[in-house]
Amino acid sequence: MPIQSYDLAVVGAGICGLAHALAAVRRGKRAVVIDRDAQANGASVRNFGFVTVTGQQAGECWRRAMRSRDVWIEITAAAKIPIQQCGLLMIARRPEARAVIEAFLETDMGVECRLVEPAELGEYGSGLRGGEFAGALYSPHEARVESREAIPQLAAYLAERFDVTFMRQTTVHVALPPRLETSRGPVEAETIVVCPGDDFTALHADRLARYDLTRCKLHMMRVRPERVDPLLPAIMSDLGLIRYLGYAELPAAETLRARLEAEQHAHIDAGVHLIAVRSADGTLVIGDSHHYAPTPDPFAPTAIDELILDEFVHVFAGPGPQVVERWTGTYASAPDRLMLVDRPCEALRIVLITSGAGASTSFAIAEEVIAELYA
Ligand SMILES: Cc1cc2nc3c(=O)[nH]c(=O)nc-3n(C[C@H](O)[C@H](O)[C@H](O)COP(=O)(O)OP(=O)(O)OC[C@H]3O[C@@H](n4cnc5c(N)ncnc54)[C@H](O)[C@@H]3O)c2cc1C
Repeated sequence: MPIQSYDLAVVGAGICGLAHALAAVRRGKRAVVIDRDAQANGASVRNFGFVTVTGQQAGECWRRAMRSRDVWIEITAAAKIPIQQCGLLMIARRPEARAVIEAFLETDMGVECRLVEPAELGEYGSGLRGGEFAGALYSPHEARVESREAIPQLAAYLAERFDVTFMRQTTVHVALPPRLETSRGPVEAETIVVCPGDDFTALHADRLARYDLTRCKLHMMRVRPERVDPLLPAIMSDLGLIRYLGYAELPAAETLRARLEAEQHAHIDAGVHLIAVRSADGTLVIGDSHHYAPTPDPFAPTAIDELILDEFVHVFAGPGPQVVERWTGTYASAPDRLMLVDRPCEALRIVLITSGAGASTSFAIAEEVIAELYA
């Protein structure tokens, strides 16, 4: 059989790999995406599908999130992928949290966001413990997709609309342009982008060793509350204000952090904060927690889930929700950066999202990487 030849080969069919394939085909390139799994099974389908702009670190990350959100809006419309939810309501349970929100609104990132007074919270849907809060931040920038459906739909769209070739159940052993060695034989490509997710110990492990990478394990649940208002935007609360760098790096966050360390010590130790996003069937995906290890253990102690549910019942009215599904996910993590692009040679890039922001930033990162590869 003749060796197949492409302009670009992408290793990895998660959101990062798909984003690179999209950026390349938009420039008229012929692309192949190679993944060892039969269907996407990594972080890209285990996440919230929450394209978060507000709260991303000021500067490049926030800018990339804004651009990626725009690409999500374009591509979901073109590929007929439903946007499940828009906007973010960051609840301030405490006055110290409201102070962080007020400080955030003073920054350039506060554009189009607003402070919501407790009495106004009803406008964003019922089901919250509105009267008990010190206020909230509303951001219109966010979008939410159902990742487990959206990622396969995006791959199918790339195949049908742009003739991207997908080689599934195919492991890449060597990726050195102009050739890849795979479990199904060699493939030729002028340029290669490796997007291996949290698998940084296989391809080009020698290059990646310098970044001091580890992995982060997260607990996730799907819950069925008694009622969920369809108007409800994505919900976060105080613990997120000391975790997401766009807020956490503001001086006002220190006072909040001190109070949370006194009152929610166990949550902070487990890296727990609340994100709650809505699905079409009325369930909510909620999470998460953060445990770091080179090889995270496969166990999911219920005590961690209880901490997430504890924050949930302080934000949502009514009794504790029925948990209908639980899972964990992992992503790559670095001590000093949110993402990395490694350049082993002119026609090869290794791209890792080393934070929990790949759904929010991959499209912009991919545009930058492909523009540089084909400059
Ligand atoms: C629980 C959880 C919640 C999250 N929530 C959010 C969120 O709400 N918003 C947000 O922006 N981000 C979120 N993230 C982060 C985001 O999901 C990740 O940053 C993103 O999915 C990483 O995408 P990826 O394509 O790099 O990795 P992956 O999705 O892991 O894909 C990597 C792919 O590479 C393939 N691969 C690796 N090596 C090889 C090889 N040698 N040969 C063939 N195939 C190979 C793997 O099989 C895999 O399919 C979350 C992550 C988790 C785990």
